[in-house]
Amino acid sequence: MGGEGSPERGADSDARSSDRASNASPGGGGRAAEAGGGGGGGGEALLPGTPRTELHAGARWLEDALPFVLLLLLVFLQQHLLGIVAFCWLSTVLHNANIRMRRQVMLKEARELGALVLLALLLVSQVAMVLLLGRADALGQQLLLRAMAGSPAEAELGVFDVLWSVLVCDLMVRYGLMLLKVCLTVLVPPSAFRRLRRSFALVEAAGLCYRSLLPMPAWYSWLLRTVQGRLSGSLLAGSYLTFKLAQLVERGRVAASIGRSLLLHQLHFGKYATQEELLEAGDDQCAICQEQMLRPVLLDECSHIFCEECILSWSERAADATCPLCRAPIASAIGSHTDGSTTLLPQLF
Ligand SMILES: [Zn+2]
Ligand SMILES: [Zn+2]
Repeated sequence: MGGEGSPERGADSDARSSDRASNASPGGGGRAAEAGGGGGGGGEALLPGTPRTELHAGARWLEDALPFVLLLLLVFLQQHLLGIVAFCWLSTVLHNANIRMRRQVMLKEARELGALVLLALLLVSQVAMVLLLGRADALGQQLLLRAMAGSPAEAELGVFDVLWSVLVCDLMVRYGLMLLKVCLTVLVPPSAFRRLRRSFALVEAAGLCYRSLLPMPAWYSWLLRTVQGRLSGSLLAGSYLTFKLAQLVERGRVAASIGRSLLLHQLHFGKYATQEELLEAGDDQCAICQEQMLRPVLLDECSHIFCEECILSWSERAADATCPLCRAPIASAIGSHTDGSTTLLPQLF
């Protein structure tokens, strides 16, 4: 048996060595020897080894590089520590304010004025803190959509300085929007709570338009300043302005449709049902509240009828609301953040 096997093996290794000679790749010989030791199927066995070795080397390289990357990260954190802590703190306070505000809006006519005044004071105190930390001047310029043109400090602003000033300004505007919502909640009579929820959505949508305008001067002048060469600088700054314009048009459209529906008392997903339509439906009981319908609304999509109050609060519960009876989509243009909260997502660019 062994005597028969060895000539075959010899022929096999001959074939392999000629293969190796024609390949003449560095390191290929070692791998061929490994494959031969495993007694595997000749030339094909060489292939899987190659990526695995490179993967291994890559993993080793990453392992070597990791401590230095961590070191760089620590340097970055140390340099921007105050900013990062302040940003986290201000976002946390806003998150907390959102929770309180949602609770008050849910209470409707039973809302607690004391809690709302306290909330307003909390927001004002945070804004005052930021202003006292010496950002009042720059913030005023930014809010008026002016890049601090001509100031000697401007030429030295790096990408993180621009990002930081944009972030703070955006946070302050969100605090302002929240304050406006708190004031609305205090001032609006309880009977108008339905419209109050829609005005929250309008405040948020209009605020988003303004917020997307705010970083434009800072990033535009940064691009012009930083990019080498006048032509490529103008090109990049121009493309920035173009995609910002597209964003603004889209956001402006949303805000306008919310504003229109608020002013005109429009329903976006149906119309008030007539007496005949109610008779045709054969049932004057609302499927949501199980009582006789108040101000019945006929849905455009599926012709199901519900109380106005019931279907409005139903549609506000989800971003993509559907008919509670047949799951047909309800064209909801009420907008987001009708619960009185303010977005925690910053506008970075
Ligand atoms: Zn109902
Ligand atoms: Zn339906």
